[in-house]
Amino acid sequence: MSKLAIYGGPKTIQAGEIKPWPPIDRTDEELVLNALHAEKQARGDHNIALEQEFAAWNGSRYALFTNSGTAALHMGLVGCGVGAGDHVLVTAYSWSSSATCILHHDAIPIFVDIDFDTMNMDIDKIEAAITPRTKAIVAVNLHGLSLDFDRLLAVARRHHLKVVEDCCQSHGALFKGRKVGTFGDAAAFSFNQNKCMCCGEGGMFVTNDEQVYQQASQLWSFGETRRPEQSRDYHAYALGWMYRNNELTAAFARAQLAKYPHHFEILRANGAVLNRLLPGTPALILPVEPPGHTHNWYNYNLRIDFEAAGWTGDKRQFRAAVNAALNAEGVPTAVWQQFILPEMTVFQARNAYGDGYPWSIPGANEGVDYNPARFPVAQRHCESYMALVMALRAPNGPDLAERIAGGIRKVFENIGQIDPDRILK
Ligand SMILES: *Cc1c(COP(=O)(O)O)cnc(C)c1O
Repeated sequence: MSKLAIYGGPKTIQAGEIKPWPPIDRTDEELVLNALHAEKQARGDHNIALEQEFAAWNGSRYALFTNSGTAALHMGLVGCGVGAGDHVLVTAYSWSSSATCILHHDAIPIFVDIDFDTMNMDIDKIEAAITPRTKAIVAVNLHGLSLDFDRLLAVARRHHLKVVEDCCQSHGALFKGRKVGTFGDAAAFSFNQNKCMCCGEGGMFVTNDEQVYQQASQLWSFGETRRPEQSRDYHAYALGWMYRNNELTAAFARAQLAKYPHHFEILRANGAVLNRLLPGTPALILPVEPPGHTHNWYNYNLRIDFEAAGWTGDKRQFRAAVNAALNAEGVPTAVWQQFILPEMTVFQARNAYGDGYPWSIPGANEGVDYNPARFPVAQRHCESYMALVMALRAPNGPDLAERIAGGIRKVFENIGQIDPDRILK
């Protein structure tokens, strides 16, 4: 049994062995330089080509390039007709803007607890959360694992709810062989650098519905009905935002999109290595890929089984110590969010725009309960996980994934030696 690096033993992975994301090559350089020297720097040919290429790749009819995934989520809700005081269901555990995008259009998030195994919204708990005001579901395909859309869409249809997919982490993930972002009425992707398809900052709105597209398009660009490449009349027909993106970023995104099928295969291969080498590791709960689902392994979550670890003290302290021990081995795990969504201050205070708005809209607060104790599964997940993200991305391949698995096994096989008092002093 080798000594843990955190206690002075040999380190599993050395500094510099993990390469940064995203890999940049001549494809990126040529396209970005082309955009730099082109006549248009705002919206131009690269934006339009990117939208066509992304729509073709994803199997969506319409696409609009945005300056963030959050903007695309907001557009999805507006495209689906969600408005002031409406209730929108969303998972209790995700990135904050899966829920704050609902507030952006004065609607009210209603949280649904998660399923522990998939870490996604528990579809069996949706019906109990529906109120007379519920109009839509923000369906987050978290960590790169798609929801079960057979079951989700059945509930949505039964209650006439629109579905906006949050695909900000799930580019290329499949359910029954079909890509995410094609199941709901609209979907949002993010191209922020942390995402597995990126261009610095940016996003993509997609839909198959022409009316949803038109409404989302107004919000995207100043409330206008025509896009900048069309003959504009410069008239604000509705309240619009400025959610467009620019040519340099579009060119970068085109280069990364062209390489994404290859990057996706690398993610799949790296995930497969962990799935092969980690089962049986003591006190470690592994992520699942249920039958019919193809994960993109955007974020490979490691969760501690505290009981199996023999730990009865403060769970977050113990998790911090395990995470530190993994980092000392050179395994770059991290704790992403410390809080479930309903626990975040913006929801606890029920005040987004001042004067308690939008919860102060007459009737809007009825049936809203943000007591964190109502989401025990999300809490249990939130206090036990560590995220493994960038190290599984290209150009890092299966050789490195094998060594990462070795570092993880080393720490968990010596879990009895983890002493938070000693490690976190
Ligand atoms: C990153 C992310 C977003 C927001 O995307 P941005 O481009 O950062 O606005 C929304 N939802 C989820 C699940 C995300 O991971």
